Amino acid sequence: MDQVDYIIVGGGFAGFFLAHQLQKENRSFVIFNGEQISGSHISAGVCNPVILKRFSTFWKSKEQMDYLETIFSEIESYTGKNYIINEPVARIFHDEAEKKQWLKNSNKDDLKPFLDPDFITLDSVENPLESGIVKNSCRIDVENFFKDMFQYFDEKGVIINDSFDHDSIDTENSTYKDFQFKKIVFCEGIHTKDNPYFDQIPVLPNKGHCLEVKIDEPIDPYIIKKKHFLFSLSDKRFYCGGTYDRFDQTEEIDPEFVEELETGLQVFYKGNYSISKIKTAFRATVDDRRPILGTHPEFTNLHIFNGLGARGVLNGTYFSKVMFDYLESQIDLDSEIDVKRFY
Ligand SMILES: Cc1cc2nc3c(=O)[nH]c(=O)nc-3n(C[C@H](O)[C@H](O)[C@H](O)COP(=O)(O)OP(=O)(O)OC[C@H]3O[C@@H](n4cnc5c(N)ncnc54)[C@H](O)[C@@H]3O)c2cc1C
Repeated sequence: MDQVDYIIVGGGFAGFFLAHQLQKENRSFVIFNGEQISGSHISAGVCNPVILKRFSTFWKSKEQMDYLETIFSEIESYTGKNYIINEPVARIFHDEAEKKQWLKNSNKDDLKPFLDPDFITLDSVENPLESGIVKNSCRIDVENFFKDMFQYFDEKGVIINDSFDHDSIDTENSTYKDFQFKKIVFCEGIHTKDNPYFDQIPVLPNKGHCLEVKIDEPIDPYIIKKKHFLFSLSDKRFYCGGTYDRFDQTEEIDPEFVEELETGLQVFYKGNYSISKIKTAFRATVDDRRPILGTHPEFTNLHIFNGLGARGVLNGTYFSKVMFDYLESQIDLDSEIDVKRFY
C-alpha cells in the first residue's frame, strides 16, 4: 500500500495551488485529475483587485495581491518560469460619470493603490473617453502554468489521470484503493455535486464562454476591458471573454453567448479578426461570495477547498496557504470561509 500524507482530488487552480503548499513543506501527496470539465483551464487568469462595474474593491484584496508575487516566485524556483504577466487592466470608460466616479474612488484609502488617476488613450481600440489603469493588476499565463505544473508533478509521479471514485474511500481505516492517506482534500469545483460527502454544499455553477481570436494587427499591451476582456495570448492569438450564465448547466456552446462576446468586441475593436476557438466551462460560485474551506462534520480526514468563484487565481493562491495552515497547524478558519457555515 502506498502511504501518502494527502490525496488531492482535482487539478484546477485549487488543487495545484494546494499541491504547491504541500510540496513546499515536504508533505507527500498524489493528485487525482479526471476528465471532468475545469473552469481553471479556460480561465483568463486575470488578477484584478477592483470590481470594474462599481470601481470598488473586495474582502482581502490587498492581502491577496500582495501574496501573488510570493507564491509565483516559489513556483518559479522549481518550474523555472514565472507566470505573472505584468500587463495591467485598462478599463475603457463608457461615459463621463464613470470617469468622475473613478477619480473620486481613487482618493479612498483602500482603492488608492489600485485606481490610477491619470487616464490614458489606447491606440488600437475605440476609447474616445480614455481608459483607466488598475495599478498592480496583472494576469497569469494560464496555458503554460498548467502545462508546466502537470509536467513537473507528472515527472515526480504524483499525478493520477483518473476519476476519483468516492465509493472506494474507507474513512475508518483512511484508505483509498491502494493508498493509505492521512487526509483527502476535495478540490473538485462544480463537480462537488457528485461527491457524496460534500454534495449538500451549495456550490453554484456559473457557466462562462470565451473565445480565442486571431488578430493580425498589434494591440496595446494591456488587459483591455469594456464589457469583456481582450488581451494577447501569443503572436496574433488573443483571448476574449468571458460571459456569465447562472442558469444553463449543460456543457454545450451556446451561440447566444458567442454573439454577446462578438458584439462586445466589435463595440471597441474595429479591425479584422477571426475566431479560432470557442470554449466553455463553469465557475464554482457561492452565494455569499466566500470560498469554502474546512472539514467534513463527521469524517475528520475529509476536507474541502472550493468556491473560488470568478477569482480562481487570487482566491486559489491566497487561500491555499490558509488551507495549509489550517490543516497542518490547526490555525482556525475565519467563520466566513469555513464550510461549517453550511451545516
Ligand atoms: C470563462 C472563464 C473565465 C475566467 N476568468 C478568470 C480570470 O480571469 N481570473 C480568475 O482568477 N478566474 C477566472 N475564472 C474563474 C476560475 O476559472 C475558477 O475560479 C476556477 O476554475 C476554480 O478552480 P477550481 O480548481 O476550484 O475548479 P476547476 O477549475 O473546475 O477544477 C476542478 C478540477 O477537479 C477535477 N475533478 C472534479 N471531480 C473529480 C473527480 N471525481 N476525480 C478526479 N478529478 C475531478 C476536474 O477535472 C477539474 O480539473 C474564469 C472562469 C471561466 C469559466
